[in-house]
Amino acid sequence: FKVPLVDNEPLKGYAPGSPERRALEAALVEMEQQLPFEIPCIVNGQEIRTGRLAKQPIPSDHARHLCSYHEADTTTVAAAIEGALAAKDQWEAMPWNDRAAIFLRAAELVSGKYRYKLMAATMLGQGKNAWQAEIDAAAELTDFFRFGVKYVEELYSQQPPKNTAGSWNRVEYRPLEGFVLAVSPFNFTAIGGNLPGAPALVGNVVVWKPSPAATYSNYLVYRILAEAGVPPGVIQFVPGPPPEVVAQCINHPDFAALHFTGSTFVFKKLWKDIAANIDKYKGYPRIVGETGGKNFHLIHRSAEIRNAVLQSVRGAFEYQGQKCSALSRLYVSSSVWEGGFKDQFLSEIARIKVGPPQDFRSFMGPVIGRSAFDRILSYIQKAKDAGGEILIGGTGDDSKGYFIQPTVILTKDPRSVTMQEEVFGPVVTVYVYQDDEFEDLLQLIDNTSAYALTGSIFATDRSALITATSKLRHAAGNVYYNEKCTGAVVGQQPFGGSRASGTNDKAGSVSLFYRFVSARSIKENF
Ligand code: GLU
Repeated sequence: FKVPLVDNEPLKGYAPGSPERRALEAALVEMEQQLPFEIPCIVNGQEIRTGRLAKQPIPSDHARHLCSYHEADTTTVAAAIEGALAAKDQWEAMPWNDRAAIFLRAAELVSGKYRYKLMAATMLGQGKNAWQAEIDAAAELTDFFRFGVKYVEELYSQQPPKNTAGSWNRVEYRPLEGFVLAVSPFNFTAIGGNLPGAPALVGNVVVWKPSPAATYSNYLVYRILAEAGVPPGVIQFVPGPPPEVVAQCINHPDFAALHFTGSTFVFKKLWKDIAANIDKYKGYPRIVGETGGKNFHLIHRSAEIRNAVLQSVRGAFEYQGQKCSALSRLYVSSSVWEGGFKDQFLSEIARIKVGPPQDFRSFMGPVIGRSAFDRILSYIQKAKDAGGEILIGGTGDDSKGYFIQPTVILTKDPRSVTMQEEVFGPVVTVYVYQDDEFEDLLQLIDNTSAYALTGSIFATDRSALITATSKLRHAAGNVYYNEKCTGAVVGQQPFGGSRASGTNDKAGSVSLFYRFVSARSIKENF
């Protein structure tokens, strides 16, 4: 079996009147006419309606909801685990070619037949504008499946071990023994696909708890995987109240791995819960997580100002700053700040249109929900209380949707709260440093990087790039030169961070798949 030529899914432009724009507009109109949807749990391919209904509100219009969904109860989760374990033998034994074909077919369905529907669900339900939905629900999801197949092909065809005269050594990459629990976030529909998809691709069975705020798009992803041929039971779709579904899974003796993207707080809590249960399990569970970030742009005095400004606007405010990778602390050299950066940055931000994502003029949409709205505004207040100066924005309006203006805080204290804690919203804090303090600043950035996900360095002087890259060796898992710190592309920039940002197993690369297999060496004598 040879994987067909793999390349990244091309992005479309969505210019007014273009075929893709018309198709997406039609998908949005259709979805708005049909909503709200009613979403069941899916266990062993069967729809289960528990009757315990929860809602996924539309964040740009919270009086409406995109769907209501049946929360999994204890019986449903127990059935999901048992069913997954029962489906395991056949799925493991399925020839790799056939598993691969299923995921390549899923990629085709995402990039073609369901592209606009998935995008519409991501726009309405998760508040992304068309271009943000495109890079996520259309491109990245397609890429995760296509490149995943290529990476697993690579994994399975590792250099064989050395043989000695008369003996033949081989290594087999088995799926884990037990089931994988996937807990996915609201902010990327693609991650919703990759968290259950990657372990399943290497032959695991998965119990998948999607984020409540992404239930509908994630349900569509589940349906696509089933249509592509993932057999019943291999991936179980169990939306529900996180503590219950997750606790029940990690209390089970066959729990084999956690594949998680979400907050640092929850990840640490789950890690502790897993540790407390360690004697119950048949083996040592694999724990794979991508969590928070406090990502930086470091603007050196030699930076090209216009580029640094535009990249910073995009890094901080695209998708309202709700990416783990979003820019949230900005270190600018004083000569660059005064030499045009400040004025250009603020005037670009003043032009940002905040509005519903179905309005193609909106650069920014709503934040995801009530608690996000409150948390973000309370961080802005904390920054003000600590002496931070709001240069622009700072306000929100939740009368119809959860809208927050793009906000820039200027601080004199590089250790202040919004320079260190994750806000996960459209808020960037700026610290202006003296040009000759560059080396000290690198030390300070490292010392204040409890998270280590992404960071960008802007400089035309290559020695500044080299010094910063070397001094900040552990302060980011993804580093960019003269480009924003968001938007890692599958297959191009393997994505993930260390410290409090996660286990750095790098989504979009072969290394992730190693975490979900267990190798077996076999020696045979002739
Ligand atoms: N991979 C995305 C990026 O590079 C971020 C993923 C996340 O927010 O978890 O922007």
